[in-house]
Amino acid sequence: MILYRLRCSKGHEFESWFKDSKSYERQEKKSLIGCAVCGDAKVARAIMSPRIGKGGEKVEAEAPAPTPAPPSTEQQKVAALARHMPKELREALLKVRAEVEKSCEHVGDRFADEARKIHYGESDKRGIYGETTDEEATALAEEGIEFGRLPWIPRGN
Ligand SMILES: [Zn+2]
Repeated sequence: MILYRLRCSKGHEFESWFKDSKSYERQEKKSLIGCAVCGDAKVARAIMSPRIGKGGEKVEAEAPAPTPAPPSTEQQKVAALARHMPKELREALLKVRAEVEKSCEHVGDRFADEARKIHYGESDKRGIYGETTDEEATALAEEGIEFGRLPWIPRGN
């Protein structure tokens, strides 16, 4: 079945069901279709108003732009940071790094422990450097332990 919107020669519009488009054409040719309002047999298909917008069609959502995968490790983050850093800043940081390496003891990931020991007098007062997590750094700061953080940028490029 097919629904056609029809219009008679007097301008009345009405809808009528047909078995198929051929069935409509046959009936139309033989003037078998009468206007539902005035009975006029001179009918033609009215142009269906196109249905655009008004919540009908779903506009396909644009695919989100591919976002670069976040650096997985702190080291990669710092390396990425170093790449976008002005040359002077990078050189200054490398200088600080060299200074720290020369005058301080590297304690690696025991930094938080050692910093605490020094702070509470359990260990010799000395300069140390190493790595620590954000959580540890926050804890140290809350305990009033002095320390500095600097991007430990890789040497070379
Ligand atoms: Zn009519």
